[in-house]
Amino acid sequence: MTSDLVSVRDDIRAGVTTARATVDGYLTRIHAQNSTLNAFHEVFDDESRAAADAIDAKIASGVPVGPLAGVPIAVKDNIVTRMGRTTCSSRILENYRSPFDATVIERLTAAGAIMIGKTNLDEFAMGSSCETCAWGVVRNPWDPSRVPGGSSGGSASAVAADLCAAALGSDTGGSIRQPASLCGIVGFKPSFGRVSRYGLVAFGSSLDQIGPLTHRVRDSALLYQCMAGDDHRDSTSAPHAVEDVVTGLDETPRRFRVGLPLQYRKGNAPAVDAAVMRAIEHFRSMGAEMVDVDLPLTDVGISTYYVIAPAEACSNLARFDGIRYGHRTQSTSARDLFDLYAQSRAEGFGGEVQRRIMLGTYVLSAGYYDAYYRRALQVRRLIKEEFDRAFTKCDVILGPTSPTAAFPLGGVTDPLSMYMCDVYTVNTNIAGICGISLPAGFDESCGRPLPVGIQLQAQAFAEPLLLKIAHAYEVAQGGRARIPASIP
Ligand code: GLN
Repeated sequence: MTSDLVSVRDDIRAGVTTARATVDGYLTRIHAQNSTLNAFHEVFDDESRAAADAIDAKIASGVPVGPLAGVPIAVKDNIVTRMGRTTCSSRILENYRSPFDATVIERLTAAGAIMIGKTNLDEFAMGSSCETCAWGVVRNPWDPSRVPGGSSGGSASAVAADLCAAALGSDTGGSIRQPASLCGIVGFKPSFGRVSRYGLVAFGSSLDQIGPLTHRVRDSALLYQCMAGDDHRDSTSAPHAVEDVVTGLDETPRRFRVGLPLQYRKGNAPAVDAAVMRAIEHFRSMGAEMVDVDLPLTDVGISTYYVIAPAEACSNLARFDGIRYGHRTQSTSARDLFDLYAQSRAEGFGGEVQRRIMLGTYVLSAGYYDAYYRRALQVRRLIKEEFDRAFTKCDVILGPTSPTAAFPLGGVTDPLSMYMCDVYTVNTNIAGICGISLPAGFDESCGRPLPVGIQLQAQAFAEPLLLKIAHAYEVAQGGRARIPASIP
């Protein structure tokens, strides 16, 4: 089976295979691997076979089909689908069924994609390791004793193990790019507002963005193109036209400048620094100009993010009260309505989510609002201005996606160290710009080879340029989709 999305699509189109045979192949792999990886929370066997048969019937009768016809896609379980449940990997939504599909699901289905299942995540997308899922940890296919990253770790693990042609994730502070990096695949976070958030269970509404996790840059470009664009149901979706990013992807811009921030060079694993150095050489060989840029606020990104994101999360998660939505305590000891809320939420939310709710409530409370929340918003503006200045000197900013390769399950226990996994990714969301993580080699110092990634960031709405440069890098470094050795 070929693994990248465009090849899968082309084979179905050309009659080399059928959508049904493609879906059956992926389902067989899912059922063989998922007991180890726990990448999928729910698999839509019957529904995806029926959807594949319908596509095959259309192709056989010459009815035009969409650009993703027959391609099986996995969906992070914080994106609502009418099919199956949407749990956010949280007990509070254990049996939640959405009465509607997210905009991205509508658009991808209209393009012919087949939703093959829902993938695990850190509870409510809060985490960097997929160890906070209510139904067990997700494992990295390159080494199942290690984390896949998070929070879109189920999607990343599923794509890396070739259990689907591509997957959807969400990225609030790095949750598409960091797991993509740790699993050796491509993870693309579009600019804020590019992709409708309608139907994405909100975490940080000013930071959240849906994006693809794929084998190749071309796959990400195609998925992005099919789902991006204005949506009247999301008031933060951008009215900007979505350019064609697929045709012309092979045209490397003739001259471009790659910015190298000094601040991205400290405290990384040697293999990560080496991957960035190799990438610099690839870009030089393409004729790119390297320029030093200064991003001194890189270090305050995490503290800024951990004020803004929890503040928004505590407001967004207030709706899960056990009355309108979610788990309701079975205990009969609740004295009043407030007590019923408190007991339901204490039972339904896991420890990390509770920590974020408390943090958010604290920074928004009278007396602390000015000291924390208002201040964080002011720093946010400075971070945005810092990027704006950097982008006057360069077209893309290059650096690591994550300071290390995948760490062992249970290997990072204190929250602050976990938060530091996102030191290079949170500012992309804080500034609303776009970023992509690309496979960039391996860390060979841990027994088994572990993937490492590089990140390219570009100005808001510069997706066409970002994807072209990312694609040129992928071609230059000869990156072929590789399946982890541990997976048969
Ligand atoms: N790891 C970060 C957090 O825990 C980012 C998560 C995300 O992007 N959804 O909040």
